[in-house]
Amino acid sequence: MLKGKTALVTGSTSGIGLGIAKALAAQGANIVLNGFGDVESPKAEIAAFGVKVAYHGADMSKVAEIEAMMKFAADSFGRVDILVNNAGIQHVSKIEDFPVERWDAIIAINLSSAFHATRLALPAMKASNWGRIINVASVHGLVASAEKSAYVAAKHGVVGLTKVTALENATTGVTCNAICPGWVLTPLVQKQVDAKAAALGLSNEDAKKLLLGEKEPSMQFTTPDELGALAVFFCSPAADNVRGVAWNMDGGWTAQ
Ligand code: NAD
Repeated sequence: MLKGKTALVTGSTSGIGLGIAKALAAQGANIVLNGFGDVESPKAEIAAFGVKVAYHGADMSKVAEIEAMMKFAADSFGRVDILVNNAGIQHVSKIEDFPVERWDAIIAINLSSAFHATRLALPAMKASNWGRIINVASVHGLVASAEKSAYVAAKHGVVGLTKVTALENATTGVTCNAICPGWVLTPLVQKQVDAKAAALGLSNEDAKKLLLGEKEPSMQFTTPDELGALAVFFCSPAADNVRGVAWNMDGGWTAQ
């Protein structure tokens, strides 16, 4: 379905971003990966789908590096047809104790980077009258949890940015939608499981059950594969008129 298209997925060396990149590659899209850590194994996983894969290591907190990444993607594959703004970090702490540099980093990586990549991707998408911008927000773009001030503020911002991007392009072939996952067992969440296990003297399994039980009625983690399938739907012709939604995949978290 996506043969000949190019997808750039930020923060795709791990977790949800890698799951979405694999799902898009399975549909034939060429992929530009981004993120930190091991690059060779994600590249090999994508190449196994028989598509072209490139990597750019832009730090998404730095505007000049985002600009260089967008230019690299266009130079490598002609243009970016599908932009998935996924890179994100977390920090858990009460507001009065929240480290100021963590607040700045979360707003930059989880929110501002989506604005920068979007503004740089839109001209080519509009010129070809087809584009998909998918913002990985969170249930925390819709509801709050204590001790996540920066994350919740950034993710609510991402949902707002999604709606504005959708509206400004509503008469074109460019759509923008957000995905709002509940708990997904990636390194970002495993850190929170570890913290709970250490604080309460629990096993890894019991800490995971406690985490799920607090918020997610299904008592199941959402998977990167499931989120990848939702991203593929947003790229399909059936989703041509799906614009500005914030679609939760959260085991009932926000239905409560
Ligand atoms: P993860 O830690 O597994 O992956 C994060 C990715 O972002 C990695 O590839 C990492 O290298 C990259 N990254 C981090 N800082 C970066 C930076 N400055 N520049 C470029 N890349 C950077 O986390 P994940 O759980 O897969 O999270 C992906 C997205 O999904 C985030 O936006 C997160 O907020 C969101 N999300 C996660 C969950 C969850 O339960 N895991 C739930 C809802 C939303």
